[in-house]
Amino acid sequence: MKINPSNKANQFEESVIREMSRVAKQYNAINLAQGFPDFPAPDFIKKYAVEAIEADINQYAVTWGSQSIREAIADKYSNLYNLKYNPEREITVCCGSTESMIASLMGTVNEGEEIIIFEPFYENYGPDAILSGAKPVFINLKAPDFTFTEDDLKKVFNKNTKAIIINTPHNPTGKVFSYQELLLIAKYCKEFDVLAITDEIYEHILYTDKPHIPIATIEGMKDRSIIINGISKTFSVTGWRIGYILAAESLSSGIRKVHDFLTVGAPAPLQEGAAKALRVGNDYYLQLKDFYFRRRDMMLKALRDVGFSCIAPEGAYYIMTSFENFGFDNDIKFTEHLIKDIGIAVVPGSSFYRKDAEDKSKFVRFCFCKKEDTLNRAIEKLQKLSK
Ligand code: GLN
Repeated sequence: MKINPSNKANQFEESVIREMSRVAKQYNAINLAQGFPDFPAPDFIKKYAVEAIEADINQYAVTWGSQSIREAIADKYSNLYNLKYNPEREITVCCGSTESMIASLMGTVNEGEEIIIFEPFYENYGPDAILSGAKPVFINLKAPDFTFTEDDLKKVFNKNTKAIIINTPHNPTGKVFSYQELLLIAKYCKEFDVLAITDEIYEHILYTDKPHIPIATIEGMKDRSIIINGISKTFSVTGWRIGYILAAESLSSGIRKVHDFLTVGAPAPLQEGAAKALRVGNDYYLQLKDFYFRRRDMMLKALRDVGFSCIAPEGAYYIMTSFENFGFDNDIKFTEHLIKDIGIAVVPGSSFYRKDAEDKSKFVRFCFCKKEDTLNRAIEKLQKLSK
């Protein structure tokens, strides 16, 4: 019997982010690695899901997502961004934004076509590119403030470019792409006829006056944008696996077919719970922002006090920091020290870079989507770090 993994599966490793959660357990370390909350989800969303189960919404929903959630998503984008999407044909609900991304790529990109990815990048995009047959091409966001220039865009856009992935607010750096940056990217997308696939899962987790801007709101971009989002981070329900895609009908038709054959659909009662939660209104989003603002400042201060020279994230719930003051040659060794000797699990920065990237070993990522008590315990442990 031939039992080797496929050529595609052989080209990537298991997720380091997910592995770190297992290692954290093994060493009984505080898990500031994988980005998921350790506090309860809001009562209202849990109640909505329980009600849906009790009302016997327990069979498959429509493959593209239940009517109620697609309408709630359409209303949300119309109210917040004045973006109009037809829930019948332009919105698709998937199992998390993870499935949304792979379904979007497989539904739109052909073997060998290039996709542009900003590096560092959320590690899924690497395997996503391999699985969809796309050829990834990278733009390095330059540390310490993770910026890029027009020249960087000029170098990578070409006639074989199919799409650019824009994750804003950005995991792992916390960068929020500015209007000027998006305008520049939009200019190249239009010139080279390129799709913008945007991962906007942290849209409400923002810390400065920079707003979250979907590139689809820029003139000429709506029909070439694929917006990916989900409820995991906004409602602290990462285990529900409810993500969604907004895209013009011509794009959605391919994506929907891929989604159908990958997973059929996301959990039906949780879609109903999410549909009601998505109508919760702006106050909730503002409260969420304040909630994370406090945690960001706590962690920033604590990390700087012990000698990290981190820059403040503008959004999302991670701090990607260099560790040059602690005398370790690379991120893997420093991560091991943090887990085994200090008692805190983080994600080694190299998992957000290509294998041969220049900056790859210089960072680690701390997440702070945790109870204040968890962060305080971690901060106490950080005092053991010596420079
Ligand atoms: N987005 C989260 C992170 O970067 C977790 C994602 C996941 O493991 N599915 O840690």
